Amino acid sequence: MSLTLFDSHCHIQDPDFDADREAVYQRARAQGVGLLVPGYSMATSYLAMEFAELHDEAYALIGVHPHDAKDVSEEDLTELRRWSDSPKVVGIGEIGLDYHYMNSPALRQQEVFLRQLELARELELPVSVHSRDAEPDTLELLDQVPGVQGVLHCFTGSEEFANQLLARGFYVSFAGPISFKNAHALRAVVSAVPKDRLLVETDAPYLSPAPWRGQRNEPLRVIRNAEVVAAQKNCTTKEVFSFTMSNTYNLFSRMPRK
Ligand SMILES: [Zn+2]
Repeated sequence: MSLTLFDSHCHIQDPDFDADREAVYQRARAQGVGLLVPGYSMATSYLAMEFAELHDEAYALIGVHPHDAKDVSEEDLTELRRWSDSPKVVGIGEIGLDYHYMNSPALRQQEVFLRQLELARELELPVSVHSRDAEPDTLELLDQVPGVQGVLHCFTGSEEFANQLLARGFYVSFAGPISFKNAHALRAVVSAVPKDRLLVETDAPYLSPAPWRGQRNEPLRVIRNAEVVAAQKNCTTKEVFSFTMSNTYNLFSRMPRK
């Protein structure tokens, strides 16, 4: 089946899928769902790349999450540069700032985020950015490396933050939280983001949309998130498939258009 929709951010390389990874991929493929698989550490970046190389409709992003910023070495950055030679590596991610969990010191997170933004600019690859409780610093660091294209993944922030990202040419990607019962403010952001700047994702194995909240998530459920977007945009789900597909291809332009 040809592709109809991209899950623009899912971690199918995660240990949660060790028992049935292939079946999870095939379930998504059978419904025309392609996968963008970001790493969050060196090891999971390598696994993302390996998975993408073995699966037609999967592509990898490589990078280190702010949680693991404390462990990043100069050699790791050199390794990421080398891995980016793979044609299945289409972006740098997920990278960013997380001041909620603070698993790495804030200054170290900023330094590693900046270095990976610079790497993305050097390689002319887009970035997938994670930002939690760190909106002003995220924008400030993006401004330090102008010219980098990217997406703010699993957006759960304020409308003002979305507007700031859009003003910088960024895309905004929505995951399961837009389907949660009390997420009225977040759904208002979905309505406000223009159709040509909006992506959908699952962030699987996390953040299953309603009515599966709390269960392990999987890429196929990106369809549910597209349905919620359609309701907010007063358009058909098919239309959401179509505009998010072209947005994904436009941003991750190393992917061959099919
Ligand atoms: Zn993620």
